[in-house]
Amino acid sequence: LHDITERKRVEKELSMALHTALEASRVKSQFLTMVSHEIRTPLTAIIGIAEVLKETPLTLEQQKYVNVLETAGNTLLILVNDILDFSKVESGTLSLDQVHFDIRELVEKAIAAAAVRAGEKGLTLTVEIMPDVPSGIMGDPGRLTQILLNILENAIKFTERGEVVLRIKNNPDAKDDEGLLFSISDTGIGISEEKLNTIFDSFTQVDSSIRRKYGGTGLGLAISSRLVNLMGGRMWVESTQGIGSTFYFTIKFGSPSMDDPYII
Ligand code: ADP
Repeated sequence: LHDITERKRVEKELSMALHTALEASRVKSQFLTMVSHEIRTPLTAIIGIAEVLKETPLTLEQQKYVNVLETAGNTLLILVNDILDFSKVESGTLSLDQVHFDIRELVEKAIAAAAVRAGEKGLTLTVEIMPDVPSGIMGDPGRLTQILLNILENAIKFTERGEVVLRIKNNPDAKDDEGLLFSISDTGIGISEEKLNTIFDSFTQVDSSIRRKYGGTGLGLAISSRLVNLMGGRMWVESTQGIGSTFYFTIKFGSPSMDDPYII
């Protein structure tokens, strides 16, 4: 009898501790959401005004200052959006869309966005989508674009010469035919073996000199890998320093039915 009472007491304490932890996490997330929203509004105004100023006649020196203002504003906006996303995924308050979209169109748009930067660096950017990958799928196109752009932009950022290739095929390990396997390979600087373990943690950047050289918040992969988990998949990476990296992720998509609205 004593054992059972003791076990009940421990269970009750554990459940209360869990409740307190969840409540603390919810409050933290609410606070971060509020602060991020409050920062975003004036920041959008600052960036907007910088953009307007750029269109007015300016001296070379003034142009330089306005460019700094715009770049700093955009960097801060990315950071605020990342913090907002991260706190939402961590607290479990991020909800995913379930809409019908065309994966080939989505990839084409993401590639077009990344191609500018790749072109500036003289890198080849190619896509290979296996013919048996279904075009119409159900899922969250906005979040999938965010994941793809995060990994593609990293691949381009950390590659000085060579190529970046995005491949998509049906996931050979999926039990049903609703899983896709994405891989993004680059011929860039690669990631050391010890850093590979922490690359999906929040605020990791391989080292501070890399941070100074390439910028970034260190939240992109933490958010992307958690989004992939929410989509029923997983993300991993293989990399050799000086040779390049390949990021992989799987996602489970539903098949659309006739009455699902078509988005893009
Ligand atoms: P960031 O915003 O800093 O790019 P990420 O979470 O997207 O944050 O990436 C974390 C770190 O992982 C990067 O700062 C970089 O050091 C390393 N990394 C990510 N992708 C690559 C890649 N393709 N090649 C080499 N290093 C990479």
